[in-house]
Amino acid sequence: MESRLQVVTIAAIATPPGRGGIGVVRVSGSAERVAAIVGGVVARELAPRLATHATFRDARGGPIDRGLAILFPAPASYTGESVAEFHGHGSPAAMRLLLARCVELGARLAEPGEFTKRAFLNGKLDLAQAESVADLIDAANATAARAAARSLAGEFSREVRAIVEAVTDLRMFTEATLDFPDEDIDFVRASDAAARLERVRGDLEALVSRAATGARLASGLVVVLVGRPNVGKSSLMNRLARADVAIVTAIPGTTRDTVEREIDAGGIPLTVVDTAGLRETGDAVERLGIERTWGAVERADLALVLVDARESGDGLHDEDRAILARLPQALPRIVVHNKCDLAARAPSVERPANGAIRAHVFLSALSGSGVDLLEREVLAIAGVEGAHEDAFIARERHLAALKDAAAHLRAAAAHLAGASPPLELYAEELREAQNALASITGEFTADDLLGVIFSRFCIGK
Ligand code: GDP
Repeated sequence: MESRLQVVTIAAIATPPGRGGIGVVRVSGSAERVAAIVGGVVARELAPRLATHATFRDARGGPIDRGLAILFPAPASYTGESVAEFHGHGSPAAMRLLLARCVELGARLAEPGEFTKRAFLNGKLDLAQAESVADLIDAANATAARAAARSLAGEFSREVRAIVEAVTDLRMFTEATLDFPDEDIDFVRASDAAARLERVRGDLEALVSRAATGARLASGLVVVLVGRPNVGKSSLMNRLARADVAIVTAIPGTTRDTVEREIDAGGIPLTVVDTAGLRETGDAVERLGIERTWGAVERADLALVLVDARESGDGLHDEDRAILARLPQALPRIVVHNKCDLAARAPSVERPANGAIRAHVFLSALSGSGVDLLEREVLAIAGVEGAHEDAFIARERHLAALKDAAAHLRAAAAHLAGASPPLELYAEELREAQNALASITGEFTADDLLGVIFSRFCIGK
């Protein structure tokens, strides 16, 4: 608490750059400094948490803007410090004047994410919640926004903590028995440690798979569309992106280039890369396009290989086979048999029992029939189908920590399985698992990691 007096007061424009109905300048820091800034800007004292209509003034008393001023005394504020907000008109020029006035009165400009970092350091949010603030701001669609809001409300953190508690229980019991070396093994057996550990491992596995979905929700999937020229790639791409409003980026290119579009497929951001026709060629420009195509394939999560339904009825064209053979082995793929209208085939899905080809989908990009079947297959392969309702947002960092914890619990189980379990090693694995989990919520987190996490926030958050 005493360090709060030395806390540097920070200020930032919290609303996005540009003109808008309102603009907000936010200040956070010591009670004294924030009070001085409020006094300097609105020349009056503010009742806590009550919006007061006031004129914002510069050093000479000239008006900068008129709006609402609100004071949130510590600790009942976003950051846990004293916070003041000035809600003015969304004029970039007036906002800059107001911010300059706050700096003149002793604030320094906030760094990206600094408000949220302070909220974390003051225990207002745990680290996973703090990250979900940035994810909510960055959410590209409604599903990702809802998932981020669930993480912000603490759903993900609660599940992580429940597992941490279960591991702590196992540890406490084991460490108690270590004090009685003669009886320790009987103790552990009597406590049914192995069965309890199994249950924790099961819970953790379930959380890993939910977090993997959450990470995909946040980052989206990269789907490449490959196939010979004229097989219908551009047509399918346009079908998938049917709502033009969903197109976030359209990097223009010729038909020989790759074209990327971000598409909202049932709430999942898909980056679909339409690629140059893939075939052996002597044309230098076309070759360049083909090289880029393979570059796009390298970073893909899923490939859609387009073939012509007329030729592929009882087997693939040689060139199709050549394309399939060149895809990275581990890359899952769907063979899309397009132009099924010309082949007099109804739209349908066939799922081979095994192999890298997850599904054959027959459709018509021209009429659009069967495209819904394809979307469902894509979402199923991504593991996000039907997961929306209880999804929470997660990051690769979280996923890595969960997997790390799972590996330590696996090692712990292996120690326990032997005839004379090495209890010290078993306890050590439990401790490592606990640390990995705690890094998610930020109980044990290195300062440099915090720096990386918060530097990716926008200013004023
Ligand atoms: P790309 O070169 O692979 O991008 O192929 P396009 O999308 O440009 O399509 C090539 C031609 O096939 C165009 O004339 C399309 O109208 C036509 N086409 C694409 N999909 C279908 C389909 O499902 N049915 C029919 N009948 N024609 C299609």
